[in-house]
Amino acid sequence: MGQCKFCGEKAGFLRSAHKECKKTNELGKNNIISLVASKGSISSDLKALELKIEKEASESFINKAEMESLLVKGYEQAVDNAFDDGVLSEDEENALNDLLEHFSLSQTQVDNAGKYTKVVKGAILRDIFDGEIPERIKIEGNLPFNLQKTEKIVWVFQDVKYYEQKTRTQYVGGSQGVSLRIAKGVYYRTGAFKGERVQTSETIHADTGLLGVTNKHIYFAGENKRFRINYAKIVAFDPFSDGIGVMRDAATAKPQSFVTQDGWFTYNLITNLAQM
Ligand SMILES: [Zn+2]
Repeated sequence: MGQCKFCGEKAGFLRSAHKECKKTNELGKNNIISLVASKGSISSDLKALELKIEKEASESFINKAEMESLLVKGYEQAVDNAFDDGVLSEDEENALNDLLEHFSLSQTQVDNAGKYTKVVKGAILRDIFDGEIPERIKIEGNLPFNLQKTEKIVWVFQDVKYYEQKTRTQYVGGSQGVSLRIAKGVYYRTGAFKGERVQTSETIHADTGLLGVTNKHIYFAGENKRFRINYAKIVAFDPFSDGIGVMRDAATAKPQSFVTQDGWFTYNLITNLAQM
């Protein structure tokens, strides 16, 4: 006679769990994730939340070892909830950080899916809208960028693929539909980034490297190509789901694009810094 791994009672020949117990357990797990997700981004009584979670856990055969992953999933959903309206308010940011602190979750634990980083990104964009140059990242090691005296690094994207277009005509024809000139403080949501880079034989993957974003320039440093572009010299930005395209203000300029894997952040970051 097998024993139910949930309630410990007899489960029947060759069986390791009661159907009912398994169901209760799964429901309980979902309930805990939802509880954390719904309270995570709004200021709430975390002690009361903890008690509710403990009650749910004991009624649903959930052990301490499983709890961590449920809290992490709840946090991840709470971050998504906070970004439902496209922006992360200061209250939402504080509530999310309070949640981590209360349940002793580390940044590393909750950043597997990049959700902690997403909160930092949201806070950086909010700083820029408030007219402040964000100082929220710490650089370990030396950056290969020759920054000007009053220049501040805001973000560094790594493993960025840099593309150049060989001719200008190709790009103009292909990009008219997605080119957006945005007003100060306009926040583009993830859904707005449907545009894909137009991949033609005219587009070449020129290099891969670091893309540094400051309050004055964008810098690129790869093995073969190193350059910076002043925001004042850019006449158009193109939002892509995986990055950004820029067009410099020169008769001979050719379209350049950077694939960062996060078009939402890259585009909002660069276009809004350019307008500070
Ligand atoms: Zn059972």
